[in-house]
Amino acid sequence: MSRFQQARFLVSAAAPGQFPPDLGAEVAFAGRSNAGKSSAINAIVGRHGLARTAKLPGRTRLLNYFELTPGKRIVDLPGYGYASAPEAERSKWLPLIDALKERESLRGLFLVIDVRRGVTEGDEGLLAWVAPGQRVHVLLSKADKLGRGEALKALRAATAQLEGRASVQLFSSMDGTGVAQAQDALKAWLA
Ligand code: GDP
Repeated sequence: MSRFQQARFLVSAAAPGQFPPDLGAEVAFAGRSNAGKSSAINAIVGRHGLARTAKLPGRTRLLNYFELTPGKRIVDLPGYGYASAPEAERSKWLPLIDALKERESLRGLFLVIDVRRGVTEGDEGLLAWVAPGQRVHVLLSKADKLGRGEALKALRAATAQLEGRASVQLFSSMDGTGVAQAQDALKAWLA
């Protein structure tokens, strides 16, 4: 069942001036490149192909906004973790995410982490960026790649490493693990 049938792509922002008006509520999605962020957004929103827009050439280094319902948005952050990301590109989007952090409408951050990798240095960098008191929810993605026991072990390890800085859950856009739980968390934050 599609949970956000009206969801639509809003805008790719290359500068804070291009952000939508700072009204209503929004939740940011971040993650290392290839962590499964686009797939997670599609599964949670229930619109196959929605986040593909953000992968079009030239958009991967921008902040991509989607409207779920009027006044409720998600914002897809550039994937990080490729050592090859040129310094010039990084210096372009760092001011963008710093401006994002200042927005009144920002309700929290969904952080997508490959369950097999666990919390990496790049993820820690992002957690350090988050404003104190800002909520973070971690999706341990691709949980279908592990057996149940291994997945639960990874969940315990991530929970321990995060030390209360984030809520954590198992997630798979492939077999649907945790999709309803993630939808509920997102809806609660956007309410
Ligand atoms: P992004 O770069 O973080 O947006 O990652 P994508 O959503 O594009 O996914 C990266 C790769 O992981 C693709 O090949 C996906 O098919 C695969 N993938 C994403 N989610 C899952 C999942 O839940 N399970 C499995 N097995 N593969 C996944």
